[in-house]
Amino acid sequence: MKAIVVGAGFGGIAAALRLRAKGYEVTLIDRCADIGGRAQVFNRNGFRHDAGPTVITAPFLFEELFSLFDEKLEDHVKLVPLTPWYRFVFADQTTFDYGGTLEQTLAEIRRIEPADCVGYKKLLAQSKRIFEVGFVELSAQPFHQFKTMLAQIPRLIGLGSYKTVWGLVCSYLQNPKLRQAFSIQPLLVGGNPFDTTSIYGLIHYLERSYGVYFAMGGTGAITKALSDLMQRHGIAIKLGTTVEQILIENGVAQGVLLEGGQVIDADVIVSNADPAFLYSKMIEPKKQAIMTRSKLKAASYSMGLFVLYFGTTRQYPEVAHHTIWMGERYRELLEDIFDKKILTEDFSLYLHRPTATDPSFAPEGCDSFYVLCPVPNLQAEIDWSVEGPKLQSRIVAALDRTILPGLTETITSDFFMTPQDFKTDYLSQFGAGFSIAPLFRQSAWFRFHNKAEGIKNLYLVGAGTHPGAGMPGVLCSAKVIDNLIPSVNPIKRAGSKEPSILRPHVVQSPSEAILAEAENTLATKGRSFYWARFFMSAQQASNATRLYSFCRYLDDLVDEEHSAEKAAQAIELAEAEITAGHSTQPVIQDGINLMRECHIDLVVVLDLIKGIQSDIRLKQIENDAALLKYCYQVAGTVGLMMCKVLNVNDPAALRHAVDLGIAMQLTNICRDVADDAKVGRCYLPISMVGEMSMAQLMNPDLETQVLVINGIARMLKKADQYYASGHNGLSYLPLGARSSILVAARVYQTIGTQLKKNKFNYWQQRAVVSGPQKILVTTTAFIQAIFTRSFWRPLGYLNSAKQRPFSDFFI
Ligand SMILES: Cc1cc2nc3c(=O)[nH]c(=O)nc-3n(C[C@H](O)[C@H](O)[C@H](O)COP(=O)(O)OP(=O)(O)OC[C@H]3O[C@@H](n4cnc5c(N)ncnc54)[C@H](O)[C@@H]3O)c2cc1C
Repeated sequence: MKAIVVGAGFGGIAAALRLRAKGYEVTLIDRCADIGGRAQVFNRNGFRHDAGPTVITAPFLFEELFSLFDEKLEDHVKLVPLTPWYRFVFADQTTFDYGGTLEQTLAEIRRIEPADCVGYKKLLAQSKRIFEVGFVELSAQPFHQFKTMLAQIPRLIGLGSYKTVWGLVCSYLQNPKLRQAFSIQPLLVGGNPFDTTSIYGLIHYLERSYGVYFAMGGTGAITKALSDLMQRHGIAIKLGTTVEQILIENGVAQGVLLEGGQVIDADVIVSNADPAFLYSKMIEPKKQAIMTRSKLKAASYSMGLFVLYFGTTRQYPEVAHHTIWMGERYRELLEDIFDKKILTEDFSLYLHRPTATDPSFAPEGCDSFYVLCPVPNLQAEIDWSVEGPKLQSRIVAALDRTILPGLTETITSDFFMTPQDFKTDYLSQFGAGFSIAPLFRQSAWFRFHNKAEGIKNLYLVGAGTHPGAGMPGVLCSAKVIDNLIPSVNPIKRAGSKEPSILRPHVVQSPSEAILAEAENTLATKGRSFYWARFFMSAQQASNATRLYSFCRYLDDLVDEEHSAEKAAQAIELAEAEITAGHSTQPVIQDGINLMRECHIDLVVVLDLIKGIQSDIRLKQIENDAALLKYCYQVAGTVGLMMCKVLNVNDPAALRHAVDLGIAMQLTNICRDVADDAKVGRCYLPISMVGEMSMAQLMNPDLETQVLVINGIARMLKKADQYYASGHNGLSYLPLGARSSILVAARVYQTIGTQLKKNKFNYWQQRAVVSGPQKILVTTTAFIQAIFTRSFWRPLGYLNSAKQRPFSDFFI
């Protein structure tokens, strides 16, 4: 299946990578000379400039793109935290350093207005509430259906999103300077703080929880790393190429027409072009839905940007990396820019000095800068060929008078971009800096949809779509379409065998006989899962049962065969058949069919087989690392497969699923010490309990009892950490399945509790959870879950990072 992505801004790049990971053949097309969209890189006379974004606020969104291909961002780009995040310089030349630790920020607030310290903490708490809904829950949520919007309206109203960012800030802070400093964030995404919905107040918490970073080498280092990533994974990139039209037949997007007349066909098209430009120039109006045309007609655009890039022949070490230079007027100036659309004599500025962090941006002894000035977009009648040079002089003079003394003499290699350039270079409607404005009436369902209205196979990403502008916003817009576009053949991970199984096949429904066999296997061998399955939909339950039967069948090939040689042959044959995509054994064939239906990665199944194979000659596991690897192979993989069966693809969810599998396997091991010893195996690591003979394990003397019991207690403690991570991932699952997995996890965890109750007497008493206990555990689990946040929504990046070291070995 072929996909075309039009536009290589961050939204387009992220979409291209996500589609590639889903198995599409992707071509990324952009009219610029390089990828990055507004994040171009300019080099002049030894001075380097990032053309656009410089403030990195949610690095995990970039990390996610690398992790799609089992790579790590940190291997390619070095991100350094900045302190302060921004320095505000007010018209009276007083300063306010914002950022760093909470204490540092509070100390700065106290210096300006002690009474506002309490207000800031309250503002931050409210920002956190908004963040948890606006970012964690809704930023990757498709909003093309009105019912989604309808369902969210009560919560959005509850959070006060009808208020403006300015209104939000004023309800907590009194000092006029602090009110300005804490309300300017909408300007970073193209909105007037006096009009922008307070949902954007979430930026405070986003910055506070993740920090503000700079990429060494600049944002250009990120685009370069992403370009390399795309090339490594076979995405074709066509630069210097403009798409003139999206070709649509009978309401279905079929391909694109390039400026030179060439046509490229595709099964899926993703537009990262400004949606206002897309719908006004690239698609005939009669092929658009009425709703789209009315949105276009009523659209309100973000402001324009005048950006002056320059070097200086000396350095200004006292100037921070990011400075926000406030003019005399605030509300009135913004009114002139956004509403009256007039270019005034005064301004406020954002000044970027990358050389504060990375000297490679300028020749030795020099500084590199850009200064950004919000101005009216091209809906104002401003002749930029006349006004541009004049505005440059005014800005240079103002900086010379204040924070860059002598600038008129030291400035060198200067050039600027105006809204006219944004229009010409990036095809931005009215030369707006950030597409349409972030108003409540242009948010979520009211914004241009990520799934084109009335046109099949056309999707939209980027600043003008949900959730909005800024790097975090556009990277999330690609997550939205990731949720909407089906996978074809997910790519194989590095080092995997030829994935013949992943070639397109007709999906075969399981026969009655195979379903009955699977049902029987689960009922007799997997009683905890049999019980827990109750809450799944019929389809989910059926597929989960087939998965259990398949995995159990593979496991039994080794467990139920006494001859090691025969066991090795049987599992090897199964491996070969699965890799070839065909088996004479009905249960394996059904497993292969399930893999195709649910896009289960062959590599994951092969990892499971490796774990099962390792049982054949195992006597005692060596150490913790080997144990964890084994647990991943025989159970973490099942977690991964289960996610696919439930159509859950979020990488964060997959990590939690692996952890839950590991937790359950650790519990299994603790329960089955005696049973395993009977077949000559011990999974308690030598490094933990010393070398053990099987006889010793089955009839332990006092010394052995102490050693083994301590080992089991430690392993159960470890298992609890993994259960905790597993629980944190539940919210990624559909509600019914979430309840089932919760129950299965709790019942399993209770096996550990039983073991403890039995004083760890594993050699005489097998720990089991009785029927009435299961009912009790299930009821308690549900009551607790209702009041547990992680059951309802993901805890976000911090949580996933916390549990990362536990599952790193499988990546
Ligand atoms: C000066 C400036 C500073 C900023 N600072 C920050 C910051 O510090 N932090 C932050 O998070 N955000 C910042 N932003 C905002 C952020 O850069 C943007 O919101 C984001 O990068 C936009 O990404 P996008 O995916 O919408 O695509 P864009 O970057 O707009 O790229 C779209 C690409 O598509 C191409 N294209 C359009 N139509 C066609 C066509 N028909 N055929 C071929 N190609 C086409 C365009 O040429 C362009 O290259 C800044 C923006 C600017 C302008």
